[in-house]
Amino acid sequence: MKKVLFVASECVPFVKTGGLADVVGSLPKNLDKNKFDTRVILPQYQCMKEKYKERLKSVCYFQMDNRIYVGINTLVEDGITYYFVDNNQYFSGSKPYFDLFSDLERFAYFSKAVLSALPLIGFRPDIIHAHDWQAALVPVYLNTVFQGDPFFQGIRTIMTIHNIRFQGCWNVGHLRWVTGLPSECFQPGKLVSPYQDTSLPWDEWNATMLRGGIVYSDWVTTVSESYAYEIQTPAFSDGLDDILKWRRERLMGIVNGIDCQVWNPKTDQFIAKNYDVRNFWNSKKENKLELQKRFNLPQNGDIFTLAIVSRLTDQKGLDLVDGIMDELARRNINLIVLGSGDQRYENMFRYFSSKYPNKISAKIGYDEELSHLIYAGCDACLVPSAFEPCGLTQLIALRYGSLPIVHEIGGLKDTVKPYNQYEGTGTGFSFQGYSSSELLDRINHAEWLYRENTNEWKAMAKRAMKEDWSWTNSSKKYEGLYDSL
Ligand code: ADP
Repeated sequence: MKKVLFVASECVPFVKTGGLADVVGSLPKNLDKNKFDTRVILPQYQCMKEKYKERLKSVCYFQMDNRIYVGINTLVEDGITYYFVDNNQYFSGSKPYFDLFSDLERFAYFSKAVLSALPLIGFRPDIIHAHDWQAALVPVYLNTVFQGDPFFQGIRTIMTIHNIRFQGCWNVGHLRWVTGLPSECFQPGKLVSPYQDTSLPWDEWNATMLRGGIVYSDWVTTVSESYAYEIQTPAFSDGLDDILKWRRERLMGIVNGIDCQVWNPKTDQFIAKNYDVRNFWNSKKENKLELQKRFNLPQNGDIFTLAIVSRLTDQKGLDLVDGIMDELARRNINLIVLGSGDQRYENMFRYFSSKYPNKISAKIGYDEELSHLIYAGCDACLVPSAFEPCGLTQLIALRYGSLPIVHEIGGLKDTVKPYNQYEGTGTGFSFQGYSSSELLDRINHAEWLYRENTNEWKAMAKRAMKEDWSWTNSSKKYEGLYDSL
């Protein structure tokens, strides 16, 4: 049996700020338990729910490098063993992330503590699967600082990029200080770009933890095939295209799945009326009425209802939505928004909700339960992201028979099949050029189809609901990769 250790900074059900937590929470459960013993190691945040903290059992504690405390605690949840790295100084506070400057130090500590703890916890992984920049130093430490220790020899590493925008980047001076890595790691081509302006003093060069993870790991994966291709180009790589192109033989895109028990309109306890593909049409209207009530909109089951459930950041294409809000409000439609993030977009949705209270309604905040009702009650979900590594929103929307309207990019391109009226195929609507007018054009088309060709709409919603976006297919691909190592 192969032993696999996931290293990540967040994981459902313990702590979540985005899609990374969903993936780390559900992928281990979906791997073949007869072939893989998969465990997960996380920081032990003070903000973790009390009910989990109460169940923790101590595994060991020690001084790393003879000076810094590391405690390892564990619990078993849903058949998976989770380890937690405990250090009050680093992981106290009300949220998992703070400012980047201090986060760099916290996650450098975390990555080194994970490796330092391995000889003491009774679990020697064959493969370490590191997720995102917060865990990216694990392959770096493993292949430098820990290299001489026979215990670590033969351990293979995979680095998964969930979003290349976040890289853990600072100057060499600071990163050397917080990581304690040898100087060889900060030469061009390692944590430092080969295109670094070398006329600057060495301490001022830019160094990037994620780059280190990509350079030092055996394999690199990301969360959709299109994104794996896109990040090899300067437009999407945020400065890492050189190393990703260099490593392309060992770069693979595997699309994320969703947890189909959590996201199941037939059993979902957070929606007004459960449904499946046979009775979705009328049941979705009942959910829509409840949704309108919750969002203080006039109740009418026939109004074409668009929804956005999202972090409110530049990535999510909300500048395109901004450009068409007045136009949308002229139509007989609803727009429902649930999200939080940048002030600019929070205020934009607040403004339009008060300007058009009968048509547009936004709740600013994070509300998992309410998101279920939105997916069940809306007709179409907007996901016009400027870039999208995979995206879970559109997968959930498909499962709930709410058709996604998406920018044809990254994971959105790989998971939403554009409507083709001649062939009677497709599961949503997509546009290629990143512009408000193209987005509006797709919304117009969707609205027209919903109203004027309802049978076509229903057929498309059925196709969407029947698709399988569970982990079944993708977990097989990860298993194949683990086998090949
Ligand atoms: P990202 O990881 O970039 O935020 P994804 O589409 O991969 O985007 O994942 C977003 C997940 O977070 C989805 O499950 C979505 O339903 C959920 N989500 C986003 N914003 C909110 C919110 N304000 N309230 C509840 N759930 C949210």
